[in-house]
Amino acid sequence: MAEKVYVFDTTLRDGEQVPGAKLSMEQKVKIAKQLAALGVDIIEAGFPASSPGDFESVRAVAREVKGPVITGLARAVRKDIDTLWDAIRAAKRPRIHTFLGTSDIHIQKKFRSDRDKILGWCVDTVKYARSLCPDVEFSTEDASRTDFEYLCRTVEAVVKAGATTINVPDTVGYATPQEMADRIRRLKEKVPALDKAIVSMHCHNDLGLATANTLAGIYAGARQAEVTVNGIGERAGNAALEEVVMAIRTRKGLFGDVYTDVKAKEIAKTSKMVAALMGLPIQRNKAIVGTNAFAHSSGIHQDGIIKDRSTYEIIRPEDVGVSAHTFALTARSGRAALKHHIAGFGHKLSDSQLDAIYGKFLEVADKKKEVMIEDLEILVQEELFKVPETYRLEHIQILSGSRATPMAALRVKRGGEVIEEASTGNGPIDAAYKCIERIVGQKFTLLNFGLNAVTSGKDAIGEATVRVRTNGTIFAGGASSTDIIEAAVKAFLNAINRWVAEEEKLKAARKGKKAKRREPAPAVSL
Ligand SMILES: [Zn+2]
Repeated sequence: MAEKVYVFDTTLRDGEQVPGAKLSMEQKVKIAKQLAALGVDIIEAGFPASSPGDFESVRAVAREVKGPVITGLARAVRKDIDTLWDAIRAAKRPRIHTFLGTSDIHIQKKFRSDRDKILGWCVDTVKYARSLCPDVEFSTEDASRTDFEYLCRTVEAVVKAGATTINVPDTVGYATPQEMADRIRRLKEKVPALDKAIVSMHCHNDLGLATANTLAGIYAGARQAEVTVNGIGERAGNAALEEVVMAIRTRKGLFGDVYTDVKAKEIAKTSKMVAALMGLPIQRNKAIVGTNAFAHSSGIHQDGIIKDRSTYEIIRPEDVGVSAHTFALTARSGRAALKHHIAGFGHKLSDSQLDAIYGKFLEVADKKKEVMIEDLEILVQEELFKVPETYRLEHIQILSGSRATPMAALRVKRGGEVIEEASTGNGPIDAAYKCIERIVGQKFTLLNFGLNAVTSGKDAIGEATVRVRTNGTIFAGGASSTDIIEAAVKAFLNAINRWVAEEEKLKAARKGKKAKRREPAPAVSL
């Protein structure tokens, strides 16, 4: 009989650890609800001991998101586990996920301890977690570099102590598919107690092998895959949900008689939501969800596709929720037509949201003759995923030329207040950014600046993305316009608005909840 592979999504924990990808509570809940609609089995919503803000976010997910098991990460200390339990206990099906490093590198260098003491610590931790919650996952951190015999002993002991899922992470992205398959197969053979638990994969992508390693583990008998949407995560990221799910589906039977319950048609929508809310654009050639994933440019390929799609297409774009037909709208298309097309993206919009999008659509249609589906999607995303606009661009004027000193004059609204500034700079964008810093009264270091045309043609909408740092924290921002300088300025303001929102959240956390304040734990990378 076919066996299910449980999909454990850690976009909101491992994925959120990417610098600049921090989410507000509302954004976390929004993504978690979409993950539930996507059909994931377990949502790891955060690391509650890391900050009061994350605690509140995980608790909100546990209360509001129905369907999947809700978990969060806790270090193997009672204080962390208690905090996690407080955050998730309201969920219908909560899970405690805790971990301890088991490789000699971790045991000796990190803990300055020995194997027996660490084994005892693992067992005590699991017993304590089980005293609170019937569903306990234990991760043997750095498992791919852990001595095999010791790994077997540890896994056997923690299963006997009550762990119901055993995660075997490739924390540093070091393993290869052959090694992974071999390790999981031998682990299952050597530890009979594992019959009562689920073996899980958690692979990082440092060598570009995260998806391959995850699938190799499943082939060898693992039945849970820890993944993130778009493969985001620490350093080079995690195994991508969409890749693991679509590989199992497309190569049915090849990884064993297995299936997942993920609704593939929700993949594109989830991917776009995560990219937009976390400010992490997707590379064009990314498998399954990249802009070019289904674009055939070679003449021979195009010819083949027209004759029969299966010649060069292993997945139909519509299977993962990518609209198969392109269309163009014009200024005369009307509100009803717009509403009809937006409904095709699968978003529910309020009348005021639709009005806002229609207004922007008319502006774009004024500048471009044809508004393509991709352009429309960008407008919808901006409206749906916008952060509170504390600072809003009212007007921009640029003076630039090959011999002139670039100058920018900006008018920005903050609430009801209108602020104007002018500055010179090394280029028009530099000049505009200097104006903004003066208006906001805060310095930001620009870490990345990206510009991308949404569609082809000289009149395409330009999408600007920025990452800025202030006081040691990174914020991402994005915006679009047919005018690239305007897009760049709006992207910078978007990042600043995220910073303002975060500052306000911190202030609120400091004020009202003195009694509940917890020592923040350092970020962990499982
Ligand atoms: Zn990880």
